Amino acid sequence: MRLHFTFVLLLIFLLFIGIGGHQSGAMTALYILGLFASVLLHELGHTLVARHYGIRTLEIVMYPIGGISRPERQPNAREELPIALAGPLVNFLIALALAAWVASQQGFVALEKLAEPTDANLAERIALGNLLLFLFNLLPAYPMDGGRILRSLLALRMPLEQATRAAAGAGQALAILMGLGGLLWGNFILMFVALFVYLGAFQEGAAARGRQLTAGYPVRAAMITDFRTVQHGDRIRDAGNLLLTTSQHDFPVMHAASVVGLLTRAALVKAMLNEGPEGYVAGAMDRDFVRLKPDMPLSEALPQVAVPGACALVMDEEDHLVGMLTSEKLSEFVLLRQATEAQHRVHPA
Ligand code: ZN
Repeated sequence: MRLHFTFVLLLIFLLFIGIGGHQSGAMTALYILGLFASVLLHELGHTLVARHYGIRTLEIVMYPIGGISRPERQPNAREELPIALAGPLVNFLIALALAAWVASQQGFVALEKLAEPTDANLAERIALGNLLLFLFNLLPAYPMDGGRILRSLLALRMPLEQATRAAAGAGQALAILMGLGGLLWGNFILMFVALFVYLGAFQEGAAARGRQLTAGYPVRAAMITDFRTVQHGDRIRDAGNLLLTTSQHDFPVMHAASVVGLLTRAALVKAMLNEGPEGYVAGAMDRDFVRLKPDMPLSEALPQVAVPGACALVMDEEDHLVGMLTSEKLSEFVLLRQATEAQHRVHPA
């Protein structure tokens, strides 16, 4: 799990508005912790149902509009519906449980009293927060859960990537409406949220387009086959020279005929800074690099390679290095495919 910086901003914002009310610092902290735990439990709901379908979650990034989990592979339309529902359902259950507990203690509380944060209404406010998380996440704006639900329903009638792009389009449209509403009512938070929904929808739409354009191609179709390697006994200076004289950023590190690591540009520059030109490549290389098979579907490599600056090594069955796949090559491959598609539309064969 990692925190997106905007989530930290939101926490600071909540702290800021929390301090104004009639509540102690400890209760303010408890309130924020409660909301934070709710968002985390929401994501765990997704993660658990995804695991039920054999999909591991690579990481969970916390954004101000909620967390976003990065799955190992895309769930299919049938798997996505229960996975997407699980998160909001967790918030609904938390809200229900807290409301039931409060009601059993003191009866129901008027909603308008919750606008004034006090120590006494902490549980109510966390319940209300969860209710809002539940409703908000169900908005049909991809990549939010409601948008995923919409997509999985659309995917029953059309190809998955087309459904994704439709849901992402709906997300962008809704975000523009929210942004306009925020502008109209002078609601800063709504504008802020609209921006994130828009960017998220845009990103997901682009990713879906990428999957669509790579569908049916193996990794070997986009990999670099003409590249330079370094030996694990080479000096940092030698690798630095290669960085300057070639157009490569990352270098496979060899020990005789087998690959033992990957020297990235960042690691190379860092080693140059810390150990100087006489340092060894072996001390700076990454042993835990991404390995791909040449015949695996290119679309399956997207989650790992479609990240700016990413580099993976392609190894055959005998563990021999046969190619490299970088995010740069991948976008070039996608650009070429896009051009080919457009060309077929203009000059059909
Ligand atoms: Zn969710």
